[in-house]
Amino acid sequence: MLAPGHRVTRAPGGMAPGEFREWGHRFVDWVGDYLEEIEAYPVVAGSRPGEVRDALPAEAPLAGEPFDALFEDFRSVIVPGVTHWNHPAFFGYFAVSGSGPGILGELLAAALNVNAMVWKSSPAATELEEVTLGWLRGFVGLPPAFTGTINDTASTSTFLALAAARERQLPEAREDGMAGAPPGRVYTSREAHSSVLKAVHALGFGRRGVRAVATGPDRAMDPAALTDAINHDVTSGFRPLAVVATIGTTSTTAVDPVGAIAGIARSRKLWLHIDAAYAGVAAALPDKRHHFAGWERADSIVLNPHKWLFTPVDCSVLYVRDPAQLRAAFSLVPAYLETPETGVTHLMDHGLALGRRFRALKLWFVMRYFGQEGLRTILAAHIELARRLAGLVDAARGWERCKPSTFSLVVLRRSPAGVRGPERDALNTAIMERVNASGAAFLSPTEIDGETWLRFAIGNIHTTARHVDATWEALREAADEVG
Ligand SMILES: *Cc1c(COP(=O)(O)O)cnc(C)c1O
Repeated sequence: MLAPGHRVTRAPGGMAPGEFREWGHRFVDWVGDYLEEIEAYPVVAGSRPGEVRDALPAEAPLAGEPFDALFEDFRSVIVPGVTHWNHPAFFGYFAVSGSGPGILGELLAAALNVNAMVWKSSPAATELEEVTLGWLRGFVGLPPAFTGTINDTASTSTFLALAAARERQLPEAREDGMAGAPPGRVYTSREAHSSVLKAVHALGFGRRGVRAVATGPDRAMDPAALTDAINHDVTSGFRPLAVVATIGTTSTTAVDPVGAIAGIARSRKLWLHIDAAYAGVAAALPDKRHHFAGWERADSIVLNPHKWLFTPVDCSVLYVRDPAQLRAAFSLVPAYLETPETGVTHLMDHGLALGRRFRALKLWFVMRYFGQEGLRTILAAHIELARRLAGLVDAARGWERCKPSTFSLVVLRRSPAGVRGPERDALNTAIMERVNASGAAFLSPTEIDGETWLRFAIGNIHTTARHVDATWEALREAADEVG
């Protein structure tokens, strides 16, 4: 070991002496300018397909290039091909944004470059993940019985949860695989995210492995239909495995009645997974808490700090009630990964990935920098902006809102008298495309009962009433222009 303060003279990171620092400072300055001047960029990239690819050579340079040339191409080729999720008028999909502390946390994680496979391969990465996910669990009011793990996306988290469900509910598949096992069924509402179907399919249950349960009022899963589906499947030789309930569906932020569904899952001994990828963090708000009643009875829950908690992509959290069930599905320790410690967590046992990034660092920075109160204030402000927009839409003649707007998403459409069906769908698509093409804002569409609606998703840390109002005005102007 070198004495503290000793400076290693070898060039850092393989760069020439001084070069790393010089470019590091310039990069941080660029990022600062970029975030301050974000509104000068068009929200959606104006590039045509292939444009970025064609602007770059097909092979890597034989000799290394100076950083000046790299940075120039970054600015002139890459940035124009970027859709700016940081833009305060990004209202498509679920509008997400990183934040200063998140970006800087990511920088440090890249610098440390640890691989938290097993505890020993980076004790701090493993233990900070435990601590930070304990904080997040407290923030959203889940009991300490839940253990969290960070994954890349909710799609992965849901896949892992359903793999654990398969391990518990279908012991026949453990030794011989799926061929000799009875056909399994996973129940989810017809409004569920496509990642549920993907997971079930990838786990070997086939497309028939998902039962899309009917929805009732407000596009929430109908518990009576769930019971009927389970009964019907049992008599037809299917093995019910799991129910996936959603709090905050992607299309309209519908909320499944989690309490009733938990009761059914418990009495039928099924695994209950809750997909709260977007809305989960809203459980931290006292006035939204009732939408989550009963979620603490789930076997697993996914929520994404990279969606609505200002943490750069990627950071999805899977909470499980019993991590031994995840380990049953995923722990497989070859000799070269054995370590002597006991009573420690080896994150590789909690999923498919062996190697993992130090993702907890950025989330820890975000939670410390803003604090629980600061985060609650931003979330509540987004919900208030959505409420205000909902009021504007409701007051406008010839516009319609898909109710309710429970969190920070408003689903709306232009619906002038006498315009219906495909004609109204085309009108809304034209309005949306006109606004998106202007570069001033971005919205994305959805389909409800086969009809086109526009999603106005608020969730970006830079968004204020000015951006919401201007985009609403732009929609109204576009509606006048396209007729
Ligand atoms: C966004 C979303 C997902 C998928 O999230 P990824 O992290 O991109 O996989 C899953 N479920 C719901 C409800 C979502 O809104």
